[in-house]
Amino acid sequence: MQSGLLPVRVLELNFLDWFQNLPSPEFQEDLKQALLEYDEHPFQKGFAYHVGPRVNFEIAYIDQGQIQLFENYNQLLWCLSYALLVLFEEGYKKPLLSGTFTGRIDLEHPEVKKALKTFKFGMTLFKSYNKELFYHIPNPEKVAESDKDYVDKANGVFTAGMTFTLLHEFAHDFYGHEKVKSSDEDSKQFEFDADAYALQSISSTFPIETGQTFKLGVIASLCSFIFIDKQMQGSREHPEEDKRIDFGIEKLALSDEDDIWGIASLGYWLWSFHFKVDFTLSKECETFKDLYLEFKSNVGVYKNYL
Ligand SMILES: [Zn+2]
Repeated sequence: MQSGLLPVRVLELNFLDWFQNLPSPEFQEDLKQALLEYDEHPFQKGFAYHVGPRVNFEIAYIDQGQIQLFENYNQLLWCLSYALLVLFEEGYKKPLLSGTFTGRIDLEHPEVKKALKTFKFGMTLFKSYNKELFYHIPNPEKVAESDKDYVDKANGVFTAGMTFTLLHEFAHDFYGHEKVKSSDEDSKQFEFDADAYALQSISSTFPIETGQTFKLGVIASLCSFIFIDKQMQGSREHPEEDKRIDFGIEKLALSDEDDIWGIASLGYWLWSFHFKVDFTLSKECETFKDLYLEFKSNVGVYKNYL
């Protein structure tokens, strides 16, 4: 394919490759079955990759057996992956470990600034389209030597996140969700079912070296939804976005000290920063899981006041 306009285009073949080669025997069996049924492709009409300005911001969905992917969302997910990694490491973890964390992320820290700018440019894709912007921030196509480490990591997290998305869509297709007439409650349950299928398939990577990247990808992907729905109320057919994060993170088999709790917390921090809701980062948390639980209770309070 590789027909995009934004720098994320260079990673397009990677996520198709990761999807098809996932080391889960159960998924490979399902994939084989789907291929037999559809002759050539699990999504019988393949993929459509939409590029350029969009009126409606879309993530991904299946339309009559064809998976629809949107480069704008992909670029946003890449920007978010980069921002989460850098904000966590440079803005929170390093200062915390060196005892200099004040309870607030230092917005003047050069790496933090760059991460916030990258995220902000990603968010512009909701309402405008200036592709040049994305070549003036860290990006996967033209990589500045000084950004290389985080760009490489973000490429992995993004690719894993898109693999999660493809698995989620594959599950809808495999279970025949779009073919049945369903109530709103059923539709919400289908989303959790598709997430559960994707998580179960991805868990095959947990014992191997790429496992952590896959876990980060799941979290980046789930966190991306809260930027699309400020109120985190979901929609008629979609569950509340924070509940999906909860559902996903519980299935990652994390220790309480795992960085991923912290990265998910930074997802909420970034949400609060973007939407100007006052969430603070505690200095007192014993573990990153505690931090996550604190953010969750902040989110609960916020939603109660809506
Ligand atoms: Zn879905």
